Amino acid sequence: MNVLVINCGSSSLKFQLINSDSEAVLAKGLCERIGIDGRLTYQPAGGEKEVSDKAMPTHTEAIQFVIDALTNEKTGVVKSLDEIGAVGHRVVHGGEKFASSVVITDEVKKAVEECNDLAPLHNPANLIGVAACEKLMPGTPMVAVFDTAFHQTMPEKAYMYGLPYEYYEKYKVRRYGFHGTSHSYVSKRAAEILGVPYDQTKTIVCHLGNGSSISAVLNGKSVDTSMGLTPLEGLVMGTRSGDIDPAILEFIAKKENLDIAGLMNMLNKKSGVYGLSNNLSSDFRDLDAAAEEGNVPAKIALEVFAYRVAKYVGSYVAAMNGVDNIVFTAGIGENSGPVRADVLSYLGYLGIEVDAEANKKRGEEVMISTPDSKVKVLVVPTNEELAIARETVALL
Ligand code: AMP
Repeated sequence: MNVLVINCGSSSLKFQLINSDSEAVLAKGLCERIGIDGRLTYQPAGGEKEVSDKAMPTHTEAIQFVIDALTNEKTGVVKSLDEIGAVGHRVVHGGEKFASSVVITDEVKKAVEECNDLAPLHNPANLIGVAACEKLMPGTPMVAVFDTAFHQTMPEKAYMYGLPYEYYEKYKVRRYGFHGTSHSYVSKRAAEILGVPYDQTKTIVCHLGNGSSISAVLNGKSVDTSMGLTPLEGLVMGTRSGDIDPAILEFIAKKENLDIAGLMNMLNKKSGVYGLSNNLSSDFRDLDAAAEEGNVPAKIALEVFAYRVAKYVGSYVAAMNGVDNIVFTAGIGENSGPVRADVLSYLGYLGIEVDAEANKKRGEEVMISTPDSKVKVLVVPTNEELAIARETVALL
């Protein structure tokens, strides 16, 4: 079956068409600037990337262009819509309502909408993507795969904040965690690579990208993760602060005359390694280059990033009373040997020995610990689209 995987944002939409038997990507692309002007990037497998400006006032036009591209006589990869058996949608927040993926029904859409408050930028956009597909592909089954679902196995002690209980009762204020599809895929894949039973293994996954999170996966279930009610909690990220003393907010608000929106903008867009590096960049390639040339804020940003990751790893070793495997994934985790080496330099006490040669590799599945290392350390490129396609087929 061919599965169209859709990741819909407020003004953008990423897609991949995946054949679920061969697990090959038949085509992929991106619609950008939806509601502004519109641009489609489309690439069939083995073919050239095409970029074209197209008017996309709404997501419906965007999806129509995706369908047109996929079925185009010359560069398309299917003859007609009939060859697309299902659509898998990435949905960011499933709250406490969804602990696994589900076939989309009217009831499901209503339940997702009820989670809009928890992810006001993402969930409404995800629902718009669903509606646009329903309009243009009536009768094609659709599945929602939630970023939060994998972490629904966290126990209360991991997901409750030290806040008045009534906020949990009234508003469901608690930790949810994100990147669940990636944490699930990568932890499972690591067990497969190592030939160990997933349900008897302690894994820590470091998903280090522009947004970063860590999870503790005990016997195949997430028992803790670094992101919280929103993706702002936890690690220092590209532009997000991660954990800070909450009292800083009042302090800065008064000094800088900022309101809540201004504070949230600062925490989400102007902080992280970008803010730490004195607004140099949120991209680790730029920070690495600058640090090499002696740029002090860039060097500090890199040090703070790795130190925070190492501290979280340590806390998850405590949470699981040990660890068997540590896995790095996402843009930084897959590509940056220096960041991995920096993080691992704090973890010698676990009996980790790094294979410096293997750690130079980028973007491939590789073991970067030595054969003698007590804890195995791997790099496993994440593949959220494939995981969504698999979930979609499994449910249908
Ligand atoms: P992601 O959000 O997973 O797509 O990750 C994007 C981030 O990965 C970028 O902002 C970079 O910081 C980082 N990244 C990508 N390639 C490299 C590389 N070769 N070396 C270091 N960092 C990289």
